Amino acid sequence: MENCMTTHKDLIDRDRKVTFHASTHLRDFAQGDAPGRVITGGKGINIVDKDGREFIDGFAGLYCVNIGYGRSEVAEAIYQQALEMSYYHTYVGHSNEPQIALSEKILELAGPGMSKVYYGMSGSDANETQLKIVRYYNNVLGRPQKKKVISRMRGYHGSGIASGSLTGLKAFHDHFDLPIETIRHTEAPYYYHRAAEQEGMSEREFSKHCATKLEEMILAEGPDTVAAFIGEPVLGTGGIVPPPEGYWDEIQAVLAKYDVLLIADEVVCGFGRTGSEFGSHHYGIKPDLITIAKGLTSAYQPLSGVIVGDRVWNVLEQGTGEYGPIGHGWTYSGHALGCAAGLANLQIIEREGLTANAANTGAYLQERMQATFGDHPVVGNVRGVGMMGALEFAADPAKRQHFDPSLKVGPRMSAAALEQNLIARAMPQGDILGFAPPLTTTRAEVDEIVARTKKAVDKVTDELTREGALQTA
Ligand SMILES: *Cc1c(COP(=O)(O)O)cnc(C)c1O
Repeated sequence: MENCMTTHKDLIDRDRKVTFHASTHLRDFAQGDAPGRVITGGKGINIVDKDGREFIDGFAGLYCVNIGYGRSEVAEAIYQQALEMSYYHTYVGHSNEPQIALSEKILELAGPGMSKVYYGMSGSDANETQLKIVRYYNNVLGRPQKKKVISRMRGYHGSGIASGSLTGLKAFHDHFDLPIETIRHTEAPYYYHRAAEQEGMSEREFSKHCATKLEEMILAEGPDTVAAFIGEPVLGTGGIVPPPEGYWDEIQAVLAKYDVLLIADEVVCGFGRTGSEFGSHHYGIKPDLITIAKGLTSAYQPLSGVIVGDRVWNVLEQGTGEYGPIGHGWTYSGHALGCAAGLANLQIIEREGLTANAANTGAYLQERMQATFGDHPVVGNVRGVGMMGALEFAADPAKRQHFDPSLKVGPRMSAAALEQNLIARAMPQGDILGFAPPLTTTRAEVDEIVARTKKAVDKVTDELTREGALQTA
């Protein structure tokens, strides 16, 4: 009963003394100058904090709680598995029943050409596995010089030494001496940004331009040194940017020409978010390797995976034939509780038709956002696909004129939304407010998200007008 006496403030004060928080201003938080919050529960698309204050989670955690909060069915599956057998390692051919069933399910969903699934605990570690596979692959094929991996500016692939190097965002590199050697970053498929500089370029022309940039980079590096290209079907953390028309066709043509492997990072897009099973299906991408995490378990347990396609798998088999068992593995690879959660999660997605809901209710979300903010005086771009979207703010939308970054318009919009008890995420490197609610979101909930967002955006717009920051005012 001691717990009842503990106030929210007490908990946050204790937390400030002992916890190193991810993506947090460490000094401000430790000194009490940045807010804390303790989350104690959740149901559907809502979460609740220690004070009992309820929020609509318009970002599904970190676009991962796809089936929504409080699913006792998943908790039950984890519990039953824990009673039976929580853990045994999966080295040297050991397995567990949920792992086998989950791999079958994932390969069925991924479609033809995919051979095996390797498991980790996070998207970052899965991308570390990808890089090791790519190196091993080319070493086995007798091409030790073919090692470079091309990612994209604004791509997000994790925050480890290698996965953080793949990420193309400044905050993940600066002061960490990243990126590491062998990683390159090419043009982001960000039509809204580039069109400002390249007036008159159509989406298709811009896609071609991106492919040309990629080809120029491959040629400059030397095609025999470029091993792989990695990209999210839809840029996620880099701003929630669906690809411009024809982008993936253009990119894949270049990769095929120079024998460069394609890694689709489906950590956000996988398992329904775009309205298709995988973002790759949505955009006609034929990857050699796929990274999965977030939506795989809807975050009820930490679990990630690498889906290995036939072409790469055959070489991995050949390699172990020559060199012996592969020197790669995590203690928790194929963890039984993660796999049990993944299975229960995928069963819910299938039974409740959540991928179709992401397509249908997602289309409604896009339509409402467009109708509400398309002509708004501070909104330069309304974009999205399926159950993910973003508003990008501009001081002068007609001229695509950005706000002065020191005004911190993105974070202010997010803070104003929070006052409305709505969580919408300020995305890095731009004034962007991101949305990615659970795939269970209903039309009525979309209406509520849009209404609260409107109040927040209008409030900040009034402030900016008073501050003289609007160029159209
Ligand atoms: C979140 C994310 C990752 C990293 O996953 P973690 O579980 O945070 O390590 C990798 N790729 C993409 C596309 C992501 O969104």
